[in-house]
Amino acid sequence: MLIDMANVKKSYATGTVITEVLKGIGMKLDKGEIGVILGPSGSGKSTLMNILGGIDRADSGRVFVDGIELGRLNDDQLTEYRRHDIGFVFQFYNLVPNLTAVENVEVVSNIGKSPLDTDEVLAAVGMKDKKHRFPRELSGGEQQRVSIARAIVKNPKLLLCDEPTGALDFHTSRSILQLLQRVNRTYGTTILMITHNAAIAAMANRVFKVRSGEIADQSVNPNPVPAE
Ligand code: ADP
Ligand code: ADP
Repeated sequence: MLIDMANVKKSYATGTVITEVLKGIGMKLDKGEIGVILGPSGSGKSTLMNILGGIDRADSGRVFVDGIELGRLNDDQLTEYRRHDIGFVFQFYNLVPNLTAVENVEVVSNIGKSPLDTDEVLAAVGMKDKKHRFPRELSGGEQQRVSIARAIVKNPKLLLCDEPTGALDFHTSRSILQLLQRVNRTYGTTILMITHNAAIAAMANRVFKVRSGEIADQSVNPNPVPAE
């Protein structure tokens, strides 16, 4: 079991108003699986992912990632966990603008426990030939390839992707999803992905539908299909 969470609750206070954003979430994902989280805007998907990634903390409940109980880590340990064990891919790439593609990946490779080879990873995402370009010299799809390389070079236990194709056109989205599937197969990386696009669920082993801070529905997909 790579992700094992039970009864996770989280509230935010805005002034005197307290909003319960997660109302007792439970979910499990096995090592090597692809999970997809579907749900409307504001339903708590990013909050859930931030807790799994060690960016935020649950108020109550249990969160285990590869046997590590996140609630028992102090702040320094949680930072180490976030840096070493988790890869993040965001909708808007978040590359460092004044570093080239290869430099963006190297920055992260230096902090990994058992990093993969930078050139190998850039080749795996199809960006070896453009590795000396700056982000502004790359298309959106290419920037997302570099950000995936940056996320996987540290060989993370869990790759968290928040709307990774949200800013891309249909064809580029498809190639990014195919790339994530290839990463999953090649490196055995467990992937959890947030999306608005229900069609993407077909490539997942498990699908979680979040509604108003609860898992409204979940399903197991015995035959995930290649992204198309
Ligand atoms: P989703 O990713 O499904 O769009 P989020 O997890 O981002 O949903 O947000 C769920 C709810 O929690 C929203 O109503 C949002 O406004 C609120 N929220 C998220 N983060 C914070 C925060 N740091 N402070 C206050 N409210 C927050
Ligand atoms: P995509 O279909 O991936 O969105 P684009 O049509 O945006 O691709 O870009 C096509 C090609 O042009 C890409 O190979 C990219 O590297 C190159 N390119 C895009 N923007 C720039 C730029 N500002 N400087 C140099 N090359 C660029």
